[in-house]
Amino acid sequence: MKVPLLDLKPQYHALKRDIDAAIEAVSESQHFILGPAVKKLEAEVANYTGTKFGIGVSSGTDALLVALMVLDIGPGDEVITSPYTFFATGGTIARAGARPVYCDIDTASFNLSAAAVERFIARDCEVRGGRLVNKHTNGTVKALMPVHLYGQVADMDALMAIARKHGLRMIEDAAQAIGSADAKGRRACSFGDIGCLSFFPTKNLGAFGDAGMCVTNDAALAERLEIFRVHGGKPKYYHAFIGGNFRLDEMQAAVLNVKLPHLDDWSAARRRNAAYYDAAFAKAALGSAVVTPQGAPGGRHIYNQYVVRVRGRDDLRAHLAKAEIGTEIYYPVPLHLQQCFAYLGHAAGDFPESERAAAETLALPIYPELETAQLQHVVDSIASFYRQ
Ligand SMILES: *Cc1c(COP(=O)(O)O)cnc(C)c1O
Repeated sequence: MKVPLLDLKPQYHALKRDIDAAIEAVSESQHFILGPAVKKLEAEVANYTGTKFGIGVSSGTDALLVALMVLDIGPGDEVITSPYTFFATGGTIARAGARPVYCDIDTASFNLSAAAVERFIARDCEVRGGRLVNKHTNGTVKALMPVHLYGQVADMDALMAIARKHGLRMIEDAAQAIGSADAKGRRACSFGDIGCLSFFPTKNLGAFGDAGMCVTNDAALAERLEIFRVHGGKPKYYHAFIGGNFRLDEMQAAVLNVKLPHLDDWSAARRRNAAYYDAAFAKAALGSAVVTPQGAPGGRHIYNQYVVRVRGRDDLRAHLAKAEIGTEIYYPVPLHLQQCFAYLGHAAGDFPESERAAAETLALPIYPELETAQLQHVVDSIASFYRQ
């Protein structure tokens, strides 16, 4: 039995008529960039995330980059984030000209640890002239950029308290977490200054190519995001700012407008699949060999990925590949150990929880259309690996 990590075809086939019609409507209109489909998507995604304004952009990466730009984060500034994430999180901080400051993750959630952030600020920072300054680099710590990894909201009560206490901006990397919520029902993207979403095809809400969005409750920031999205020109050809081409196109927005009304059903199906795995792994009684993901109680994890911590990860992965079960390692090298960040001066051992997660975790197939028999086959194949 084949179990791919992800198969997008069943979702397309279920919506084929509507999606094809939406694409055809864009073809007929010949209006390709920032038109009515983008406007509609912006309003609906803002509403969906519990925010006031949506600004459609070209990708999740560009959402992060333009968020940093409109908050005036650049050379001499530092942004605190997690080293255990997709590259874009740290990459955009560096591309904005700022310095990524990595703090370790929480063991259970894999998300940025508020305690680790507090330790960094207490140990390595001081206030100079009203600014929070890193004593070692003399850089100004300006913002926090937590990631809601795998579809689970980070500990935003604690992180927002730190941001308020130290006057830091908050950018949420919610690329994997559209529609996820904490125990109080507050959605990813609704906590901070700017929330950043990706509609890369593998995310819970996926386009037919690259697409993303910034959302915010701040009207002034929304306006700046709109200006920076078109090279920083307003009126057109008059530039008070240097922005970029971060535009979202109509074709992508049209597809996303068809898909968005189904997102809750898909995320619910992912949650059902996760609950199936949780119960089936418990029944398989593999002890400490497989640790299933631990959702914060009462929260709404949307399982963009279902990631287990396993013993003998790489051998297990090879065993599953032989059984035609797709898996992936998100992420094998934490950002502080990436070659391109060597200038930050980190070494192995600096963030032990991130390094342990990188060495021990494996993502299993979780997409909505999986059959129960496929889920059970994954569990049985893993059980057989440990019993051989
Ligand atoms: C996917 C992703 C991004 C980047 O989104 P793109 O649309 O691929 O540019 C950023 N951060 C995280 C955590 C992601 O998973």
